Amino acid sequence: MIIAIASQKGGVGKTSTAISLAAGLARKGKKTLLIDIDSQANSSKVLMPNYPEVPVEKTIFSTVLDRKPLVIHKTSIPNLSLVPSHILLSNTDIELTTAIDHREARLKTELDPIANEYEHVFIDCPPTLSWLTINALTAADKAIVIVSPGYFELDSIVQISKTIKEVRGYFNPNLELLGFLFTMSDPTINTSTSLQILRQTYTDKVLKTIIPRNTDLRDAHFSKQDIFAYNPRAKAALAYNKLIHELFDI
Ligand code: ADP
Ligand code: MG
Repeated sequence: MIIAIASQKGGVGKTSTAISLAAGLARKGKKTLLIDIDSQANSSKVLMPNYPEVPVEKTIFSTVLDRKPLVIHKTSIPNLSLVPSHILLSNTDIELTTAIDHREARLKTELDPIANEYEHVFIDCPPTLSWLTINALTAADKAIVIVSPGYFELDSIVQISKTIKEVRGYFNPNLELLGFLFTMSDPTINTSTSLQILRQTYTDKVLKTIIPRNTDLRDAHFSKQDIFAYNPRAKAALAYNKLIHELFDI
C-alpha cells in the first residue's frame, strides 16, 4: 500500500508522521520505503547521516525532472529505505507546469514497477498544492491528511479535500482518503475546539489515534533519530505505535 502524507500547511507534522510510521513499521520487521518529495528534504536529513554529500542526480529530482528510475538509498534503520529529496526540487513546479506529457505521473511511472518489493511505501509531501503533491497523490493508493489545532489549520482541510477529489477524478480513480490525523494535541481550549469541529465535520474520517504535542519528537529530529530510537517510551512514540496498530493492525 502506497500512502501519501499530505496537507498544504507547513509545520503540522507531516514529516514527523512519515518518519515515525516508516521507522516504526521497519522496526517491526516490515520492508518499508519512504519517498521524500518535499524540497526542504527534512526526512532525508533525519534519516541519512551523509545527506549533505548526496548529489542531486541521486535524489527524487532525477525521477521528477529527468524521468529516471527512483534512486533508493539504505538508511541506518534496518528494513527502511529512502528516496531522498533535494532543494533544487523547489524550482521544478514551474518546469512541470509547462510540461505537457504526464507531468502528474512522473513518480507513479517509476514507483509502480518496484512498489511490490515493499510492504509499505510512504510519500512525505511538500506543504503546497503543487505538481509535486499531485505526483504524490497520483502515485498513492491512500492519503493521510495531517491536521493540527487552529482555525487556519482546519480551514486548509477544505482545499486539500478538493485536491484529493480532483486527483481522483483526473489522474487516480483509486485514491482514497485513509483519514485525517490530528497532531500536536495539547490541553488547551484551542485543541479541544479544533478536535470537536473536526470530528463534527468529518465524523467517520478522523483517525481515532491523536498525536500529542511532545518535545521529544523535536529533540529526536535534532539528534537525527526517529522517535523509537530516541525514546521508545516518549508520548509521541506510544501514540505513533498506536496509530500503526490502528492503520495496519500490527
Ligand atoms: P511538516 O512536515 O508538516 O512541515 P514537521 O513534521 O516537520 O511538519 O513538524 C514541524 C516541527 O514541529 C518540527 O520541528 C517537528 O519536530 C515538530 N513536531 C512535529 N510533530 C510534533 C508533535 N507531535 N509535538 C511536538 N513537536 C512536533
Ligand atoms: Mg515536512
